[in-house]
Amino acid sequence: MPRLLGDDFLLPTLGPHTKTYFTAGSIQIQFCKDCGHAQHPPDDLCYACRSRNLEYRTMPGTGRVESVCLVHHPVHPALKTKVPYPIAVISVDGAPGCHVLGNVTGCAPESVVIGDRVRAYFDEVPNPHGGEPLKIPNWARA
Ligand SMILES: [Zn+2]
Repeated sequence: MPRLLGDDFLLPTLGPHTKTYFTAGSIQIQFCKDCGHAQHPPDDLCYACRSRNLEYRTMPGTGRVESVCLVHHPVHPALKTKVPYPIAVISVDGAPGCHVLGNVTGCAPESVVIGDRVRAYFDEVPNPHGGEPLKIPNWARA
């Protein structure tokens, strides 16, 4: 299946803080094992208590649109035919206070509104640097 923003659009570069999110095929959120704080993006330290005792937990893959903007300007040549498309801030079920950015698909772009319930799905694409495939999270109305 072609990727939402086109097969020519940039892919994330995997590093210690991005590999889990972009390869798991499920919504993975980092939690502090000392204070329970959920955070995204992941880091070496807990944003709340500075602990290094962190772990990833698998979330149910659902959430709520907390904010949304409709992109009309193609910021990359590969996006010329993809505008308009929505980018949403999504609160992740199971991770209180934790939000991720994502595209909401499968509906008219201008119809995405605050409060929409969404469910994650994943575009699996070959990793251009080799290794395990990427699984890019996207969101659709639940
Ligand atoms: Zn903590």
